[in-house]
Amino acid sequence: EEAAKAAAAAADSGAPTIFDKIIAKEIPSSIVYEDDEVLAFRDISPQAPVHVLVIPKNRDGLTQLGKAEERHAEILGRLLYAAKVVAEKEGIADGFRVVINSGPSACQSVYHLHLHVLGGRQMNWPPG
Ligand code: ADP
Repeated sequence: EEAAKAAAAAADSGAPTIFDKIIAKEIPSSIVYEDDEVLAFRDISPQAPVHVLVIPKNRDGLTQLGKAEERHAEILGRLLYAAKVVAEKEGIADGFRVVINSGPSACQSVYHLHLHVLGGRQMNWPPG
């Protein structure tokens, strides 16, 4: 719960995030899928047997879904399609969850828009 509070306290400053270093391959990550616009890599703190983050390589103002503009519609579609490709690659295409935490009250902690792709176990509802 303390961790959740700390995450909830994180604010969208627009500053560069750790994901820029992952994109630049300045810090290591376990890449699952990559193309010109999208990078998918394993979450460092997995919440399910499969937990992959799908991000745009160019943040272009997309710190959080709540700040998306119409010009982002194409990349948002690409990210969602990449989530399906990741699910197939990971062998969970028959059942998986895609989550986007947008803003402090959703406990977003990294302000570079990302999709969580989760699976490999029974996912419950409602989420916390
Ligand atoms: P939360 O931290 O509450 O899950 P987010 O939706 O912003 O909020 O998710 C950020 C995710 O990024 C977390 O699941 C976290 O484990 C993951 N993460 C942070 N740093 C790294 C890293 N260096 N490599 C891989 N995943 C990371």
